[in-house]
Amino acid sequence: IAVRASLMKTGGGEDGSTVALFQDVTEKRKLEQLRREFLASVSHELRTPLSFIQGYAEAILDGLAQDEKEQREYISIIWEEAGRLRRLVEDLLDLSKLAAGQLNLDREEIEVKDLLRRVARKFQGIFAERGIKFEFEVKEEGKGLPHVYGDAGRLEQILVNLLDNAARYTPAGGKVSLKARQEGEEIVFIVQDTGQGIPAEELPYIWERFYRVDKSRSRKDGGSGLGLAIVRHLVEAHGGRVNVVSTPGQGSTFQVYLPIYHPQAKALCRI
Ligand code: ADP
Repeated sequence: IAVRASLMKTGGGEDGSTVALFQDVTEKRKLEQLRREFLASVSHELRTPLSFIQGYAEAILDGLAQDEKEQREYISIIWEEAGRLRRLVEDLLDLSKLAAGQLNLDREEIEVKDLLRRVARKFQGIFAERGIKFEFEVKEEGKGLPHVYGDAGRLEQILVNLLDNAARYTPAGGKVSLKARQEGEEIVFIVQDTGQGIPAEELPYIWERFYRVDKSRSRKDGGSGLGLAIVRHLVEAHGGRVNVVSTPGQGSTFQVYLPIYHPQAKALCRI
């Protein structure tokens, strides 16, 4: 406020320098506010599992568990919450490296069908358990799909995050599909669900860190709010782009576009 007041008193120079400075100050403030919000979100996300861990550990120490079965129940909650903390810290680290352009990608020529098959296998059980129909399809013409040039683990992470969301936001009786096909010079991965969908006005924000459409659902569903931010950054680090189409009550379609691998262009790829 002091800066603002002194700027107002000084008035604008003819060259507009004060206006530029003013904009600079508001920009800085905005960044500062974003940083504060981010820290508040991180603290909140860390505090929740920590409270569970502390609470249940205390209950065991105070002899509140009736028998061995109950004790095991408490320990398994502690174990799950510790896992949630670990994932959150890993996601935060990934994101900060990605934002700083410091995440090393171990890139190689990747066969798309193999990659998708591996991920689909991981999710088959999860979808079956939740009563969601799961479909997996790789559209190939002639010689099969062209390859992409990427970090296999990170490409898997992209698909896992998208399928994880599809599983969490689709009720039993719904359907999820994982597909890949070629579109021009790109390979597109498609994760489609018949879940709750996302209102149009929220769509631009879902890629932001900690942004959630329904703030109250976060804990029950177990998401960190970082999944899509990581997806977008990872896809962009691979030279690709993301897209989403969604209709509330009907479902969502997430698309990941990656450039096709051309062996002769390998030398030009930014690693
Ligand atoms: P979260 O861990 O909360 O799922 P994400 O970054 O993965 O965080 O997603 C951000 C938000 O976007 C979610 O909280 C949810 O509101 C919305 N969202 C993501 N994927 C889907 C989906 N498949 N269907 C409906 N909403 C989704």
